Amino acid sequence: MTAQIIDGNAVSAALREGLALRIARLKADGGPTPGLAVVLVGSDPASQVYVKSKHKRATEIGMNSFEHVLPEDTSEAALLALVDQLNRDPSVHGILVQLPLPKQIDAERVLERIDPAKDVDGFHPVNVGRLATGGPALVSCTPLGCLILLKRTLGDLSGKRAVVVGRSNIVGKPMAQLLLRDSATVVIAHSKTRDLAAECRNADILVAAVGRPEMIKGDWIKPGSVVIDVGINRVPGAEPGKTRLVGDVAFAEAAQVAGAITPVPGGVGPMTIAVLLRNTLEACCRQHGLPFAEIL
Ligand code: NDP
Repeated sequence: MTAQIIDGNAVSAALREGLALRIARLKADGGPTPGLAVVLVGSDPASQVYVKSKHKRATEIGMNSFEHVLPEDTSEAALLALVDQLNRDPSVHGILVQLPLPKQIDAERVLERIDPAKDVDGFHPVNVGRLATGGPALVSCTPLGCLILLKRTLGDLSGKRAVVVGRSNIVGKPMAQLLLRDSATVVIAHSKTRDLAAECRNADILVAAVGRPEMIKGDWIKPGSVVIDVGINRVPGAEPGKTRLVGDVAFAEAAQVAGAITPVPGGVGPMTIAVLLRNTLEACCRQHGLPFAEIL
């Protein structure tokens, strides 16, 4: 069997197109222009790239994008003051503080200062709690992107056996909560799990969020299952001095067994920013008492 390749670039482009249409309609009806504020402290090159692409994607679909770049030696008090200002600003509907933060700043304290209604990264304990209890939550972007890919591939997830490998707060745990919300039967595996291969072989849905290159082998995959590979690992390339990206799943082997699989790159990765924009529109609609219906 050769698996269907789940094209995250195509799905994220469709999601962004849908958002652009919604935003155009909102503006034409005299409604608000959704606004996303991104805060970057310091000059970490990877963070600079992420912030730039968030700005580009936001403006492309007609959102307002506000960038705040602060020096590396910014104090926690100064960053908290900026968050307070953004919390009060009615033109800002979503706030994202780019991680990691410099060591003099307590990231948890900063994330908890963001108004939960504007927490488009879904990291605030109020949103994490609402996801767990079934309330209206803004949900962490990468896992929500994975869920969108799964629903487009499988439709109804009810009763499926799902195994999530990884239990981080930003991917594994919210992923498991989302699958549970959709009535999958969920197992969360981690570094202390006994016989991980056997757990994976039971999975109709396998989500890998570990950060270990090609750890999950082809013979761990249940025939016909759907495999979502969140891992992004840089490994030496074929030519000396070159590198390439691989996931947590041994893609070539797994694609011979799975029914559908996400590639790395081009699977989960492109979904994250698209979902960030989706969350910003949702936050904007909720803050203005407007209905928000799912796009994909
Ligand atoms: P973390 O390092 O925070 O968590 C990794 C998880 O994997 C932990 O729960 C750990 O278990 C588990 N783990 C580690 N080794 C093993 C093992 N041998 N067997 C089973 N479980 C193991 O990583 P993140 O969740 O932040 O990220 C995971 C991957 O996803 C990374 O490659 C990251 O780059 C990528 N990523 C991609 C994103 C995107 O596409 N946009 C966004 C976010 C992340 P334990 O808790 O027991 O230590």
